[in-house]
Amino acid sequence: MTKTKIVTSLLNNFMFEVTKEINVEYAHRLLNYEDPFTGEPGPCANLHGHSGIVRCTISGNLLEPNCMVLDFKIIKHILKEAVGTFDHALVLEEKDPLVDVLKDQGIRLVLVDNAPTAEYLSVLAIVSINSMIISLHVKNGLDIDQDDGAIIQRLCEEKLCTKIEWFETAKAKATVNLTPDLLISSIMSVRHKTKQDQNMN
Ligand SMILES: [Zn+2]
Repeated sequence: MTKTKIVTSLLNNFMFEVTKEINVEYAHRLLNYEDPFTGEPGPCANLHGHSGIVRCTISGNLLEPNCMVLDFKIIKHILKEAVGTFDHALVLEEKDPLVDVLKDQGIRLVLVDNAPTAEYLSVLAIVSINSMIISLHVKNGLDIDQDDGAIIQRLCEEKLCTKIEWFETAKAKATVNLTPDLLISSIMSVRHKTKQDQNMN
């Protein structure tokens, strides 16, 4: 057997990570932020912007016939869908009093349930990206109504977004790694969307 053929026979035993990143320019503020050392209101409570970078890592076996975990073009598309909503937007916590002031001013507002920190935005991104990847699996025959354990087992054998790194600046980033809870949130989101689509038809 040639060396190439030996490698080919082992291909499905390898685990791969593929990574893609995009730029996200966004503004936000952290309501009631206090300086951790002085207890005084801190600069993060003021409206300010970031030239952020969001890096997405997809892990999986080499299952595609084209020797890819997932085409970089598809990852870019998914990443844009999941994170593009924050680009050139003002991201505020829903309860922020600025929401009432700014909502009719033609400003692109994105409202979130918690403080729009890099950590929280990473969580939103990984759930959204995995929802899209699970939808791809559903298109390929995955039964979304099975119990969570069976779905998770199947997904873990294929491909998932396992890490989001959200750079607020070149020197400060938050990383979230995939957990079973985050995966269940993604599965629930796909079930919800599937039901919505069925109701519309
Ligand atoms: Zn900030």
